[in-house]
Amino acid sequence: MADDASGKVVKSEAEWRAQLSPEQYHVCREHGTERAFSGKYAENKDPGVYVCVGCGNPLFDSDTKFDSGTGWPSFFQPVSADAVDEKTDTKFFMRRTEILCAKCDSHLGHVFPDGPAPTGLRYCMNSASLDLKPKE
Ligand code: FE
Repeated sequence: MADDASGKVVKSEAEWRAQLSPEQYHVCREHGTERAFSGKYAENKDPGVYVCVGCGNPLFDSDTKFDSGTGWPSFFQPVSADAVDEKTDTKFFMRRTEILCAKCDSHLGHVFPDGPAPTGLRYCMNSASLDLKPKE
């Protein structure tokens, strides 16, 4: 594991495979999507900060989590604008905005313009990409 000049976390495929479970690897590094309602955080209401499972980068505060009914953990905003990167995703004949960890480029999910106030955004994330650090 190393940080490159831009401050990104860079790991080899072998390092990612050793660190992540097969499901986490599939979602984070192969841009996969877990089945709805299969992830451990879909219905979770515990207070804390959701960090990237790949690198520990803080991504979402539990205060911004809401019940989307989709079966995936959903948030109306990231902890900061530079916590995540956005990328246009045209897979499956859809035009969507992919959300990636800004620090290690792990795939997290997608953002949609049908979320609640105050942002109107719905960050639809995979539990497999997240690790909840409880509030002390
Ligand atoms: Fe990360």
